[in-house]
This record gives sequence, structure tokens and C-alpha cells, in this order.
Amino acid sequence: MYDMKALYEARSVGEAVALRLEHPQAKILAGGSDVLVQLREGRLAGMEFISIYGIDALRGVTIDEDENIRIGSLTSFSHITRDPIIQKYCNVLGEAVDQVGSPQIRNIGTIGGNTCNGVTSADSASTLHAWEAIIELTGKDGIRRLPIKDFYIKAGTVDIKPENGEIQTAILIPKESYENTYGHYIKYGMRNAMEIATLGCSVNVRLSEDKSIIERCRIAYGVAGPVPMRCPTSEALATGQRPSAELYEAFAKSVISDINPRNSWRSSKAFRQHIAVEMAGKCLEEAVRRAGGEA
Ligand SMILES: Cc1cc2nc3c(=O)[nH]c(=O)nc-3n(C[C@H](O)[C@H](O)[C@H](O)COP(=O)(O)OP(=O)(O)OC[C@H]3O[C@@H](n4cnc5c(N)ncnc54)[C@H](O)[C@@H]3O)c2cc1C
Repeated sequence: MYDMKALYEARSVGEAVALRLEHPQAKILAGGSDVLVQLREGRLAGMEFISIYGIDALRGVTIDEDENIRIGSLTSFSHITRDPIIQKYCNVLGEAVDQVGSPQIRNIGTIGGNTCNGVTSADSASTLHAWEAIIELTGKDGIRRLPIKDFYIKAGTVDIKPENGEIQTAILIPKESYENTYGHYIKYGMRNAMEIATLGCSVNVRLSEDKSIIERCRIAYGVAGPVPMRCPTSEALATGQRPSAELYEAFAKSVISDINPRNSWRSSKAFRQHIAVEMAGKCLEEAVRRAGGEA
């Protein structure tokens, strides 16, 4: 049914690394919700594949010894949404990935695949950028960790080195990012279901103890450029400020200087800019409300 040259099945990370070194041209297969569609369309015809789907050690959410939230790369979207650690510390990520495709796609699709495909519209990507996630790769030289902003090189290309046998093994959210921090994600799509984002916006905030000041603010977009991106101008504008309707408006307008959306068949650049402004203000307001603030 599928035109594959060979399919190798790894049962451990060590086996996956060894297979990758042996077959550097082979494509990694996780849940297959991107890969098998491309294979069916003939775009990957005749290739070799290394399935990592059987590596159970790469599934699940834990808190590691440094108090990072550690999400194994094979964790499915539906698992993330239901996970108690995610719900307690980083609920917005569960909400964001609950907007992926359909229940079937959310059961089979993995967060590793959603980031390794390098796609700017991926529903996990803007939230992971806003939470300053760390990507963990494992290869022949051991573990390499890098900030998610450096993982995305250009549209569809991420920093994974097949020649070193690397696969992505986890995504970490540092305690410094998630502690006392609350977020909100809005996906704008042309339909409610089975639709990739025309634009995605994720904001999180930490308020002062008396809830009167925004101590820390992060905002990131998907589809506002070739790769997911943060808006440093807007983050600086909100930091140290008292939540207010005026602040939400100024924050929203400021995103324009940082984003760079394009015209596509899905939407014009001007429309993306327009909704980016609207989404930023609404996301900040809701994130402040979730953090216990008022405006
Ligand atoms: C009908 C449909 C609707 C969809 N809707 C949405 C949507 O609304 N929002 C959205 O964000 N996505 C959507 N998707 C895309 C898709 O479900 C996601 O991108 C998914 O997360 C991919 O994960 P996977 O495990 O299936 O990856 P796979 O298809 O197995 O792999 C995807 C890519 O990542 C690489 N890869 C995977 N895991 C690793 C790893 N651990 N290390 C190194 N490389 C790896 C593969 O080689 C491949 O290049 C949709 C897909 C379909 C078919």
C-alpha cells in the first residue's frame, strides 16, 4: 500500500540512534500523521523509514530533577491535554493541542512530530515558544539541548543532525517559565475543525504577588512569519505595567513591528496583521484574568 524501500523499527532510543547512523537518509516515523499523508501522496515514495513509535520511554509528562516539565517527544496531543501536570502548570499547552485536527489526529499525532516538521502553523509551536521551551535531542554524542527559537532554522527545517544519529527525545518547559504563570492561546482558522491555523497567538503572564503588576509577559505567534516567533517589543512594553484596557490596546498595536506575515491563498498579509492585533489584546487580557488580575 505504501511505497517504502524499507521500514526499520526501533525499540529504544539507543536503537533509533544506531539505525539513524546506519541509514542517514531514512526518515523518522512517529505517529505518521504528516509522514504517511506525504507517502500516500507519493512525495516520499521509495524512501527508507525508521519507526520510533514503539519507544514507550519517549511517552509521558513528568517533572525532572531540575523541576522542568518534561514532555516525551512521542506524547500524543490527547495525552497532553488530559495530563495532570500540564493541567496544573501549563494548561494553555493542553488547550492549544486540543485544537489540532480531529480526535483521531490528536490520539496519533505527537508533540515531537508537531515540532520536528518545522511548520509555522503547528498548534503547539507558538505556545512552546511563549513558554521558552527547550528541545532535547539525543544522538551518538549524547544529549544536546537548545532553546526552541534556535531549533527552528527556516520554514520546514529544524536543527536535527541525522549524521549524528539525532532524534528529538523530549521538550522541556523550565520552571522559570511556568512558575505562577498563566496563558491563553487563540487559533484563528477558516473552520472550527480539521483546519490548520491562519494565525495562532499564545500569551502568558506572571503577576506580582498583589496581582497589580505584570512582572513577566511572553507572546508568540504561529504563521506570522516563516517560523513561529516571539514579539520582544510587545513583551517589553507590558513588563512592569499595571493591567488596563489602555495597556491591552497598546500591547496589541505593538505586535505589528515584530511580526512578518505573508500573503497566501488562506489569507492576505493585511488580514493576518489585523487579526494578530486583535488576538494579542484578547490573549493578554485573558492571561491576566487567569493569573488572578483585573483590568
Ligand atoms: C487531517 C489532519 C489534520 C491536521 N490538523 C492539524 C492541526 O489542526 N494543527 C496542527 O498543528 N497539525 C495538524 N496536522 C498535522 C499533524 O497531525 C501534526 O504535525 C503531528 O503533530 C505530527 O506528529 P506525528 O507523530 O504524526 O509525526 P510524523 O508524521 O510521524 O512526523 C512528522 C515529521 O517529524 C519528524 N519526526 C517526528 N518525530 C520525530 C522525533 N522524535 N525526532 C526526529 N524527527 C521526528 C518526521 O521525520 C517527520 O518529518 C494535521 C494532520 C492531518 C493528517
